[in-house]
Amino acid sequence: MLIEWIQRNRTEKRSPSGFSLMEMLVVISLITMLMSFLLPALGKAKTNAKRALCASQVRQLTTANVQYLDDHGDIFPPHRALNMNTGPNWYQLLESYGNNAELSHCPELGGTQIDYGVTWQWSYNYNYIGYGYNGFFLGLFSHPAPQTGGTYISVERWTNANRVKDTSKLIVFADSHPKTNAGTNHGVSLTLWWPFINRFTEGVNGNRHIGAGIVGFQDTHAEIVSDPENTIQPSVDGSPEFIEYWDPLQRQP
Ligand SMILES: [Zn+2]
Repeated sequence: MLIEWIQRNRTEKRSPSGFSLMEMLVVISLITMLMSFLLPALGKAKTNAKRALCASQVRQLTTANVQYLDDHGDIFPPHRALNMNTGPNWYQLLESYGNNAELSHCPELGGTQIDYGVTWQWSYNYNYIGYGYNGFFLGLFSHPAPQTGGTYISVERWTNANRVKDTSKLIVFADSHPKTNAGTNHGVSLTLWWPFINRFTEGVNGNRHIGAGIVGFQDTHAEIVSDPENTIQPSVDGSPEFIEYWDPLQRQP
């Protein structure tokens, strides 16, 4: 039966390339099958590479921050200088210390993005860089004290780096969450913890890099944190859970 099939196909009209239609179809289907095996592996390798690149960038941001501290009497940069609404943001203040558009931009973000049903185009600006700063505890803070529904921690302005209890635990920068408000204010949060804590927008974004978020610490190391929801996130109810990662003085409410 197989011999008959081969003989029949041998008598088929050959294309100028010397292949029969059947042979070409078999080759095409083989290539398609190979691609279906290879593409997911390639996609995963690309995602892993971006995660490693992000970790490297966040680490360099923490280094830029330490250099900023050296020049500013060990006082952490403000979330935003001069005026909370119009001054340069923290990542712009770090530009004199080696930060640039490449470093302060999570490599997973780019092109067309869809968050909470809102489609937006990525570009380099303060709404879109994808990294947040622990600005509530570390930066100048001029908003009212947080009301999170439970006991809350008051913060001091102009935190001094010499008072940090454990530099290996203190979060400075991390992948941040997309904003939930649609319309013109879409994008990605520039802060990791803001007075009115909303778990959808505050804390480390654990969905950015294959179920993990990149976190940069004050001792200038960066970690790929898997499942940050259960290991590192700020408390939404004022409980002291994981406060050591957020409050430089590790105060217990
Ligand atoms: Zn990232």
